[in-house]
Parts: sequence; structure tokens; C-alpha cells
Amino acid sequence: MEKMRGIIDQLNTWAHAYYTLDAPLVDDKTYDALYDKLVAMEKETGEVASDSPTRRVGGDLLEGFEKFTHEKPLYSLDKAQSYERLKAWCDRMHVAGADDKGYMAELKFDGLTISLTYDDGKLTRAVTRGNGTVGEVITEQVVTISTVPLSIPFRGHLVVQGEGLMPYESLKKYNETAAEPLKNPRNGAAGALRNLDPKETRRRRLTAYLYNLTDAEGMVFDTDEDVKAFLKEQGFLVHPMTRRCEDFHGILDYIDEVEAARDRLDVMIDGIVLKINDVTKRESLGYTVKFPRWAIAYKFEAKEVVTKLLDVEWNV
Ligand code: NAD
Repeated sequence: MEKMRGIIDQLNTWAHAYYTLDAPLVDDKTYDALYDKLVAMEKETGEVASDSPTRRVGGDLLEGFEKFTHEKPLYSLDKAQSYERLKAWCDRMHVAGADDKGYMAELKFDGLTISLTYDDGKLTRAVTRGNGTVGEVITEQVVTISTVPLSIPFRGHLVVQGEGLMPYESLKKYNETAAEPLKNPRNGAAGALRNLDPKETRRRRLTAYLYNLTDAEGMVFDTDEDVKAFLKEQGFLVHPMTRRCEDFHGILDYIDEVEAARDRLDVMIDGIVLKINDVTKRESLGYTVKFPRWAIAYKFEAKEVVTKLLDVEWNV
């Protein structure tokens, strides 16, 4: 399948520029359209190449950073590009009996995923998502983010994930004096956190919103609402637009609300994320090679500026 090979090579080139170099060659819409085309071809032919981007999370790791193997893998998110697909996912959750406690709806932050470890109340390690299994250690860089607590009341082993972000206000201030202005907050944040010089990270005045708790020694939670309340108690930033929705209609209202508020938000988002609120049901729903089955993202139209278009025509 020569055509499929060409698409895989193209997507891998774009993914390398995006994930590893933090310098995208095309906008997300172009990438996503070609990616979806590959998914359809793989479904039709039943063939999935070993280096297909549909089998992997993230990109290659940067040289120069210490590497760390995550205690639990960090996944990507499945996407629904239409209300029909979103409804189909809600229906699946309903049939599986996983929606009795509704859904947690939150913003899909467009920055760099970070995983933070605390022991005995102290921040001991910060790592990028990397390829989902292994990430880059960026503790010194994350320490410069003033909204990330360096110490928390909880004394056990705790691992939490969220997104490192460059607020629009920080981007504006940075670009007023920067020799090389940053094109968008996502690359601003990724380039600041995967920068060997923590002074540069500090200059970019990042923030971080936290959303997933993979471990809090000895603690058991029934719902994601309880998890979010616990994270807030510990001093982590949880975005105020995070809330419970009862059903698909509630989710549609939430989408409208977020779309209306999008231009007033402090940080860049590219959609919303839905997760079943009942955390005790998540493990039985399980994971694909790339996604948890208990969560889904609904992406908005990209607002990003194309940095450099390749003269490749894929007819997507
Ligand atoms: P994703 O956009 O599919 O989203 C998954 C990630 O979102 C999670 O791993 C997590 O890190 C993050 N996230 C943000 N808010 C969250 C929340 N509230 N809850 C849970 N997770 C949250 O990310 P991905 O798998 O890294 O990348 C795929 C996307 O990246 C593509 O759809 C494409 O748009 C973009 N991409 C673009 C290019 C390009 O050249 N423009 C290349 C590769 C990938």
C-alpha cells in the first residue's frame, strides 16, 4: 500500500516537528484530516504498520533531558468530531452502566502535559508525557511556575497530571520585548518547559491546570468530582469551568457555554473533554493502545495560525 506508506511518512514528519521540535509545520486541522484518512484506510484494509501514528502517543524524546518511565502510562484522548459521535459515545457509556453519576466536563487545554510527583508533601519530580511510557524530567523548569505548589498538605505518594500553559497575557508581555516573538501559547509553553535553561521557562510566566490524579497513596475516591475537590484542597489549580453534566443534553449546553467564553479565557483550549464521573467504573471500561475508553474529547475549530504550509496536496 504505497499511498498508505506515503501518508504514514508524512504524518510522522509532521508529528516530529510538532511533538519533538515544538515547531509545527501545519495546523492541527490539516494533521487531523490526514490522520482520520489513515484511520479509515487501516480499518478498510485491516493493516496497521508498526510505525503508524495511530499506534503511538506523542513523539520522540529530546536529547539532553533525563528520562523517566511513568508509573502508569499517560494516554491520549479519543476524539468525537461531531455531535453524532459524541452521542454515540454517551450511548456506549449508558449501555455499560457507567453514566449513573453523570460526566465531568472540562476544558481541553492546549499546552504541554505534565505529570507531577509529590512525596512527604514536597514536589519531587515533574515529567513530560513524552511517548506516554517515558517522559523527559523537567522538575527545574516546572518549579518556576508560580501556580504549581512546591509543597502540599497531603503526605503520601501522589502523582497528578495537568497541562503547563502560557496564558495569553504572558504571551503578549513576552512578545513585547522578545527578539523572536512566539507564534502561539502552545508552542510558547512547550518550548519553555522543554528548555534546558529554567531561566527561560521563568521568563515565559507559565501556569498549570491539573485534571487527573493517578495516585494518592491510601486514598479512594468515588467520583471525579471528589478528585477535583481534593486537588483544590491540595492547592492545585483546577479550572473553574470544570463541572458535572448529567447527560448528553447537559453536555451540549456545556459546549455552548465554553464556545461562548472561549475568547475570554486566560489560556488556549482546543475543545472540551468528557470523562465518566464514576471513577470506580473506569478500570472495567479499560483502554485501547492509545486512549482510555471512559473519556472523549470534542475538538473545536482550530484557531491556530499555520506557521508554514508544505506544498503537499493530500486531498483530505
Ligand atoms: P490530543 O490533542 O489528542 O489530546 C490528548 C491530550 O490532551 C491528553 O494526553 C492530555 O495531555 C491533554 N489534555 C488537555 N486537557 C485535558 C483534560 N482536561 N483532561 C485530560 N487530558 C487533557 O493530544 P495528542 O494525542 O498529544 O495529539 C493529537 C493532536 O495533536 C492531534 O489531534 C493534532 O491536533 C495535534 N497534532 C498536531 C500536529 C501538527 O503538525 N499540527 C502534529 C501532531 C499532532
